Amino acid sequence: MPVIIAGNDQQQKKYLGRITEEPLINAFCVTEPEAGSDVAAIKTKAEKKGDEYIINGQKMWITNGGQANWYFLLARSDPDPKASVRKAFTGFIVEADTPGLQIGKKELNMGQRCSDTRGLVFEDVRVPKENVLIGEGAGFTIVMHTLDKTRPLAAANAVGLAQRALDEATKYALERRTFGKLLVEHQGISFLLAEMAMKVELARLSYQRAAWEIDCGHQGTYFASIAKIFAADTANQLASDAVQIFGGNGFNTEYPVEKLMRDAKIFQVRLKIIFIVF
Ligand SMILES: Cc1cc2nc3c(=O)[nH]c(=O)nc-3n(C[C@H](O)[C@H](O)[C@H](O)COP(=O)(O)OP(=O)(O)OC[C@H]3O[C@@H](n4cnc5c(N)ncnc54)[C@H](O)[C@@H]3O)c2cc1C
Repeated sequence: MPVIIAGNDQQQKKYLGRITEEPLINAFCVTEPEAGSDVAAIKTKAEKKGDEYIINGQKMWITNGGQANWYFLLARSDPDPKASVRKAFTGFIVEADTPGLQIGKKELNMGQRCSDTRGLVFEDVRVPKENVLIGEGAGFTIVMHTLDKTRPLAAANAVGLAQRALDEATKYALERRTFGKLLVEHQGISFLLAEMAMKVELARLSYQRAAWEIDCGHQGTYFASIAKIFAADTANQLASDAVQIFGGNGFNTEYPVEKLMRDAKIFQVRLKIIFIVF
């Protein structure tokens, strides 16, 4: 997304072209061990030397960190601690095989375990100035605009999970009997399923509204943020409700819903909702 919104023709042709020719993956490197929600606190340094930048620092929690062919990297290019965030950071495209780039171990996470999450270390990594997006100092704005455009997608992911929780719970409630009746025939359960259905439909409308704002050419921060939070909370609520409807079986790995509950949490963790007044 940063290259789609901020790449020049040459960068787009080279780096987006490459991923349309082969099934290659890339990754978004912003978070650091000491700076997650607070993006402006990142410490990875980019120093200009001739026609190159020398990158030193550490990134953490990078999805596809060990799989990427190239990375988007945010680094601090202005050493002045008083420099405004709109000028202090630069966005780079970094090839995965650049000398000095070390890839950490795959992290063992609570959910979404097929996803490859890693730390990365940059030690004197040399990046040509042609790989700067827009220009020195534009990095923070690129990241914020990228998040505006990717939050609706994350919300859509969360809605998918919520829909699965509803589908699994409905199926189970139509099969399981207690007190001589199907679960679904107990009004307490059917009310809960109706509430789950309401929430999943509203979360779906919310990300579609956010996506529509983007299609209209608006920045979309407001609706994208609402969609992301609402869908993340909905996914967590519905996964928990589904576990409840499954009773003891819901707590067991032989049934699908405990996984949904573990997988849902990341949608609330990866928020990065930032409102900054400039
Ligand atoms: C599986 C996984 C994949 C990820 N993938 C990527 C990736 O591909 N690229 C990338 O750059 N990052 C990635 N991240 C990092 C993710 O974006 C951060 O974890 C997230 O931004 C939170 O930052 P943090 O972990 O440092 O928590 P912190 O910033 O330390 O926050 C800790 C808690 O405090 C809350 N908090 C923080 N500041 C405030 C405040 N001002 N007011 C109230 N509450 C606050 C947070 O919401 C959170 O609940 C990933 C993380 C995970 C776990």
